[in-house]
Amino acid sequence: MKRILIALVVIILIASMSLVGCKKAGVTSETPTVFTMANNIDCMWSWDPSDAFGEELPILFELYETLTRYHPLEDELEPVLATDWSVSPDGLTWTFTLREGVKFHCGHDFDSSDVKRSIERTMERGMGAAFIWLAVNSIETPDEKTVVFNLDYPVPIDLTVASAYGAFMYCMDCVEEKGEDYLSAGNELGTGPYKLQQWKRGDQVLLEKFGDYWRGWDGNHFEKVLLKVVPESGTARQMLEAGQVDYVRLLPFEDIEALKQNAAFTVTATPGFQNVYILINTQREPTNDPRVRQALAYSVPYDQIIENVMYGYATQSVGPIPKGMWGHDDTLPQYTYDLETARQLLTDAGYPDGGFSLMMTVASGDENHRKVAELWKAELTKLGIDLDIRTMPFDAQWDLAKSSNLDERQDLYILYYWPDVCSPQCYLEGCFITQTDPIIFNLCYYSDPQVDEWIIEAWETAGRDREAATAIYRQIQEKLIEDSPAIFLYDMQNVRVMNSSIRNFTDNPAYPYVLFIYDLYREEG
Ligand SMILES: [Zn+2]
Repeated sequence: MKRILIALVVIILIASMSLVGCKKAGVTSETPTVFTMANNIDCMWSWDPSDAFGEELPILFELYETLTRYHPLEDELEPVLATDWSVSPDGLTWTFTLREGVKFHCGHDFDSSDVKRSIERTMERGMGAAFIWLAVNSIETPDEKTVVFNLDYPVPIDLTVASAYGAFMYCMDCVEEKGEDYLSAGNELGTGPYKLQQWKRGDQVLLEKFGDYWRGWDGNHFEKVLLKVVPESGTARQMLEAGQVDYVRLLPFEDIEALKQNAAFTVTATPGFQNVYILINTQREPTNDPRVRQALAYSVPYDQIIENVMYGYATQSVGPIPKGMWGHDDTLPQYTYDLETARQLLTDAGYPDGGFSLMMTVASGDENHRKVAELWKAELTKLGIDLDIRTMPFDAQWDLAKSSNLDERQDLYILYYWPDVCSPQCYLEGCFITQTDPIIFNLCYYSDPQVDEWIIEAWETAGRDREAATAIYRQIQEKLIEDSPAIFLYDMQNVRVMNSSIRNFTDNPAYPYVLFIYDLYREEG
């Protein structure tokens, strides 16, 4: 359900901020028919779409397609490999009609048996985001262009098939012929606009246009896509300024502010679905007392953090579901920075002068989170609470949070979160439903039977009646804000910096960092 690993990424990027760059107006691309992007890491941790669950999306979404695509800000589903779909009145049977004339890169035709077999393979392997298919009991293929999903309980499968993770369609004839490991060895079997030409691990990924792509190649499109691995953000910025790359995936906010002043670059900032929680250990004193957790929520200098750490590219969260997503509700109560109220709550809980210490883990190199922790520590000191900030490698932080020795675990965990199936469910089930074995993202160890029941009820209702589901999501959020198992810190914006010759880019927050390069074109001047 999320990518933890962005932590590492943000880290690396922020680690390197010294840059000498000469600004040139009207930077011209060196290779006009190639869209070139700089990425701080080789994001292709997995090439197998059945298990990829990390930062692979910017490449996978050029190679592969899903049945539908979700546009969350408009709450609309766009037909992609499916052209039509319908659901039975009980919400248990979904029927999809597939697009005619779609070919895989290998030359095979795309049909209903590929849908059935690729989803079944993903489910059977049970890796990555395979859990998105949990409600599916069986998949039938009455003919080559019709797929029927029979569900155990009603869920919105039209959204599931649009998932950023675990929902790509791939050629199963080739998987069966070439073997289970064919994909993970660095091959692809998609229907997308571009196919893989070359992958040099740790260096670059090169894609070329797929001549038989079903949308065709009329109009303006890029012939090739090149992803270069550029670990050092100063170097990436220089390449952008020299016209050697069109886009840099991650840049420090200081650089973005500087590039914004230059007409050679376009900077877009749109609401994103990535938010940040500080998860509070609800299983241990003193934070097992909701009044202590509420006091913590009142002690955070939200405005200062957003201004000084995020350069304004974030807003204080209202509840756990980010702004712009259905289920988000701007009228929910919000904690504010209010030390008097915090002190009163601590007094009520028996800690009038604080007098305790809390351990917060922060991933090494994550400058943003380190700054958040430092700013908060200064406020907690005023309440007599010591914030013990432990910086450690991301893996160590993650392992500690799941340690079988409960006494070892942290008191506070700062977590980036973003969706797979673009829905409020992903946030609530991911972080706040009871989880013991395994713990996924519920690193507050929160457990409330009523909340568990509502979370399941909400998703089962969502398949039939979105409005009724929204009402349940509100109920859950009210309870979570009251119980305060987490501080809902901020919702981040997606900030993109591109060469200004690139046209037609719109950010879709359901697909983090995906550019949909087929839609883009270059126009100089
Ligand atoms: Zn094939």
